[in-house]
Amino acid sequence: MDLIFFGMQGAGKGTLGKSVAKQYGMQIFETGGELRKLSKDQSPLGQKIKSIIEAGHLVSNEVVMEIVENFMNNLQEGTSVLFDGIPRKIEQANLLNEILEKHGRNYKAVLIDIKKETALKRLTTRRICEKCKAVYPADYTKDSCEGCGGTLVTRSDDNPEAIAARLDAFENETVPTIQIYREKLLTIDGEPQIDKVAKSAIETLDPIMKG
Ligand SMILES: [Zn+2]
Repeated sequence: MDLIFFGMQGAGKGTLGKSVAKQYGMQIFETGGELRKLSKDQSPLGQKIKSIIEAGHLVSNEVVMEIVENFMNNLQEGTSVLFDGIPRKIEQANLLNEILEKHGRNYKAVLIDIKKETALKRLTTRRICEKCKAVYPADYTKDSCEGCGGTLVTRSDDNPEAIAARLDAFENETVPTIQIYREKLLTIDGEPQIDKVAKSAIETLDPIMKG
């Protein structure tokens, strides 16, 4: 069973995705990570991506889907995929679903649900590690990263205007996209602390992933 993860920024989607993927031995598909990996690759697709990035162009939906297709073709038999941050828009969802159906995949969508006020509060108060980019919530009071010892800083794009723009994009583009998956949708309450959210995610997913 593949999972398509949705969540407003600040919902803890990335962190939760990692723990769910680990729990069920899934591979994570994350567009940014795949782009970075492929652009170092000598394959025709790798070279194409490298030239798009070097020209400073945005990667089109078609190319994103070529990347998904490539990922699915290289997937080890019997491995499930967790899609993190894709699809963002309806057009991407339709293309992604085509690929999944072509490959005979079973999939569900998972929404980590938080209120906009919660997202705003978390995003304006969080800090990130300068070195490893780990994210720390406001209640983490030390000035250095637990993992690598790096300095914690406020991201320059975590200013109220930029945050509002990102949350608006989620409401205007991603919320209608999630509607496409309404019959396959599991909703997890993202309001509690992340370890509680992780626990309820596993409770919700266990019957599906093990059944
Ligand atoms: Zn760090």
